[in-house]
Amino acid sequence: MSPVKTPATGRPLVKLSGIRKSFGPVEVLKGVDMAVEEGQVVAMIGRSGSGKSTLLRSINGLERIDGGVIEVDGECVDPGQIDLRALRQKVGMVFQQFNLFPHLTAGENVMLALKVVKKQDKATTRAAAEAALAKVGLGQKFDAYPSQLSGGQQQRVAIARSLAMAPKVLLCDEITSALDPELVAEVLGVVRKLAEEGMTLILVTHEMRFAREVCDRLVFMHGGRIIEQGPPAELFDRPSTPELAQFIGMVE
Ligand code: ADP
Ligand code: MG
Repeated sequence: MSPVKTPATGRPLVKLSGIRKSFGPVEVLKGVDMAVEEGQVVAMIGRSGSGKSTLLRSINGLERIDGGVIEVDGECVDPGQIDLRALRQKVGMVFQQFNLFPHLTAGENVMLALKVVKKQDKATTRAAAEAALAKVGLGQKFDAYPSQLSGGQQQRVAIARSLAMAPKVLLCDEITSALDPELVAEVLGVVRKLAEEGMTLILVTHEMRFAREVCDRLVFMHGGRIIEQGPPAELFDRPSTPELAQFIGMVE
């Protein structure tokens, strides 16, 4: 449980400027600015409906924004123009639901995206999938089907599937929220290890203790805006807005 982690490099990897997004008449992102450096681990918190998922989905091109600029690794993300396949090699995303194919083994689930996107030969693809599963502690489960795995193990396969693509940044949207409480720790353990190894991470999470211990920065979203951000301990101990104070009181 060491808090020691590779420091951020100072190189901006994700930069959001003035992001706006509406669904019909409802504006859900009202001008979001945020910069994440290579190696940083950022936790996003906020009430349901505050726009966290929409923001993450925008970063890997799953939502088309109405205004502002998203840059990933120095490149502008405009779903109308950018090569989405190339973008998603750089930006991995893990969801609350694991979305594994039930008729494929863990190994096949991990290899599928690699086959489609990277077009490497079979041996290279298999080796990459084995390495990714080993990284999440499932080296022995290559041939297991999702139904033979616990929810925590299935989520770890989903993480491995993203990792196999060697993304520059990994986005995690409430990845432990669908799990039984006793399975949360094994998934958070994997995320903690990735953080310690220097992976750039943006995590939407309700795990406040984890956010405090593992993340470099806490970002609090409220009503489509970031209204506070900074070192987790500082925000938890001395929230400067009543909204954050109330939110912390609610979840802790
Ligand atoms: P959070 O992840 O913080 O709970 P979301 O980004 O999921 O928030 O949602 C923000 C707001 O946008 C909510 O009011 C939600 O109902 C709305 N919303 C999200 N996705 C859609 C969609 N595809 N169509 C219409 N409204 C949406
Ligand atoms: Mg959400």
